[in-house]
Amino acid sequence: MRGQSEAFPLDEASICLALDAPTAEDPIRIRELLAKAREMKGLDDRDLPPLMALRDPDLLHELFDTAHWVKAQIYGNRIVMFAPLYVSNLCENECLYCAFRVSNRELPRRVLDQDEIAAEVSHLLAQGHKRLVLVAGEANPKEGLDYILSAIRTVYDARHGSDNIRRVNVNIAPLDVDDFRRLKDAEIGTYQLFQETYHRETYGQMHVRGRKADFDWRLGSMSRAMLAGIDDVGIGALFGLYDWRFELLAIMHHARHLEERFGCGPHTISVPRIEPAEGSTLSETPPHAVTDADFRKLIAILRLAVPYTGLILSTRERPEVRREALRLGISQISAGSRTNPGGYEDDSRDGGTQFSLGDHRGLDEVVHDLAKTGFIPSFCTSCYRMGRTGADFMDLAKPGEIKAHCHPNALATLQEYMDDHASPATLRAAKQLLVESLEDMDGHARALAEGMVARVKEGERDVFC
Ligand code: SAM
Ligand code: SF4
Repeated sequence: MRGQSEAFPLDEASICLALDAPTAEDPIRIRELLAKAREMKGLDDRDLPPLMALRDPDLLHELFDTAHWVKAQIYGNRIVMFAPLYVSNLCENECLYCAFRVSNRELPRRVLDQDEIAAEVSHLLAQGHKRLVLVAGEANPKEGLDYILSAIRTVYDARHGSDNIRRVNVNIAPLDVDDFRRLKDAEIGTYQLFQETYHRETYGQMHVRGRKADFDWRLGSMSRAMLAGIDDVGIGALFGLYDWRFELLAIMHHARHLEERFGCGPHTISVPRIEPAEGSTLSETPPHAVTDADFRKLIAILRLAVPYTGLILSTRERPEVRREALRLGISQISAGSRTNPGGYEDDSRDGGTQFSLGDHRGLDEVVHDLAKTGFIPSFCTSCYRMGRTGADFMDLAKPGEIKAHCHPNALATLQEYMDDHASPATLRAAKQLLVESLEDMDGHARALAEGMVARVKEGERDVFC
């Protein structure tokens, strides 16, 4: 049913017009925008360019403070943890920035079989992960989508002791509506796909071969996924291909389109920056590399513009960038990642990676760092399993009620991590954080959290509300 698609009418001209509008640094206007952002109802297109153009250190400081405040109101100090699971680096596309592209003949190729996938999952479970994103190149091996569906089943079925993966998100090439339905039936969490760049001409230059060269096919992917009933979708752009300000506005347009058309915007937005990839000169010097200073701005503005949408940062970034990004708005991070199929089982084998990582720390080190800096690492997968997805999640999230669930769930999963996986140093830091977090809570939520944590301490697992 290839023809069954819905275009997302991206209006490049209106984005360019908004970006071309004069943006003198007017402190009064900026403070009006920041006051509007504190109402936590999001920002409009025309609000973004003045914020994107900010240079004045004091005003920038106010922007970052506002983003931090909004983040704290909605997400508290919780950070959701996940890991990528690369199952295949076989690919028929030619994306100039990626090591998996078809013309990279030097790259060792590997498609994990189901036993190898189970072995990878076992390693991730041993570290303490509960939530994965399954990643693959776009190739047409014999089994096609069937291979991915078997892989998802293998992940859910894998056990390490009594541990299991509770949510599998997927980041695979886009499908037609019928195949998206099959993906939904496999009980995936979020379907993630990055447009890479929303700028049509640049897209054409960067994707020169294969199915992915079709800009419109990619642009309509999330609409097809939602038509198929997948209501948690994750969008994003690969920052560095084109002007980040254009991408940001286009992401906003995309989010708004999904909300208007399907009654629910994206569950998450990812903000990957291009990292050096083997055999890709373009990835060494991206055409529109985003500086750390602009990256901070970009995250803070997104936080204000779409306050209730999860923001994801991966281990592409260095630890110091990640720490700052957490303050500014990131709500989910990966940890202990490998970007080569089989990389968890055979740590020594680093051939076949998609790109080099900025953060090489294992999960325990990241959890330790988070706990020491006052962030609660959360392994919670409750919403998805309680049916709080799509518009239902947004209905709960918008009035801020989700806090009543998320905080107790985060603490219960942290207690699980402490009992089953933490090193002594992480255990000490996490214990202190847990006590302080409970003390900070009041009323019903505190009683609920204390009860759930106590059940975990007594040996119960997968306690959630
Ligand atoms: N093959 C599918 C696709 O391209 O949509 C899904 C998996 S692909 C491995 C996942 C993402 O990796 C891509 O969407 C792209 O944004 C990102 N990526 C590719 N090369 C990268 C690089 N050099 N640095 C950072 N991210 C990269
Ligand atoms: Fe293949 Fe995806 Fe890499 Fe492009 S980004 S070469 S489609 S794996």
